[in-house]
Amino acid sequence: MPPNAAEIVAPGVHRIRVGRGDTENAFLVEGDDGFTLVDVGWASAPAVITDALAALGDRPTAVRRIMVTHAHPDHVRGLATMRELTGAEVLIHHADAAWLRAGRVPTGGRSGAVGSTLDRLPFMRWTPVTPDRTLDDGELVEGSGLRVVHTPGHTAGHVALHHEPTRTLLIGDAAFHLRGLGLGPATLAHDPDTRPDALAALPTDVAAVGFAHGAPLTGDAVGAFHDFVRATGRSSTS
Ligand SMILES: [Zn+2]
Ligand SMILES: [Zn+2]
Repeated sequence: MPPNAAEIVAPGVHRIRVGRGDTENAFLVEGDDGFTLVDVGWASAPAVITDALAALGDRPTAVRRIMVTHAHPDHVRGLATMRELTGAEVLIHHADAAWLRAGRVPTGGRSGAVGSTLDRLPFMRWTPVTPDRTLDDGELVEGSGLRVVHTPGHTAGHVALHHEPTRTLLIGDAAFHLRGLGLGPATLAHDPDTRPDALAALPTDVAAVGFAHGAPLTGDAVGAFHDFVRATGRSSTS
């Protein structure tokens, strides 16, 4: 398989490796009206995604909407270019919309000093993007089959997206699958202590999980994800 080719996670859900190996992923989801792209990646990602679409026999304009799980540079630095190539509408949770429009994670956007220092570097900035529409918790985005699950903590407006037709959870950065399953570096998160609450809000009967960072889990391997969520997730009422 060529390195740019799309890999099927579930019927109609394609993973695009936009970074080295499993480190960064975007997803193309087939819907009623064309593709929904979930996350983009760094500035090099649009070329990779365009190649993946070509391998599927489609043009960039087959992408009808771009949903970003949150406004961090590794997800949105290629967004302005991708919007231009596709003409797609851009959707993000309302709590991250101001960051997307600002073109950077603002001071205080990360809990730790390492994260804050990183955000001062030029390559962590992106071309500001004004979303066409903002997302709310629980909404089913028409045409996409994707339901929004607000999972704050990594950022205030972080969302996971549940593809209900295939029970595939696109989890963004609410969990990482690099060297095992984890919540990712606390320093990069806006409010790391609330991340376990976010996990408790996720659907519990998913059949596949796509991570922005790490290899997807499908089939029996999803059991490890359910175990991780049970062990790490916390209900805010408990
Ligand atoms: Zn992130
Ligand atoms: Zn990320």
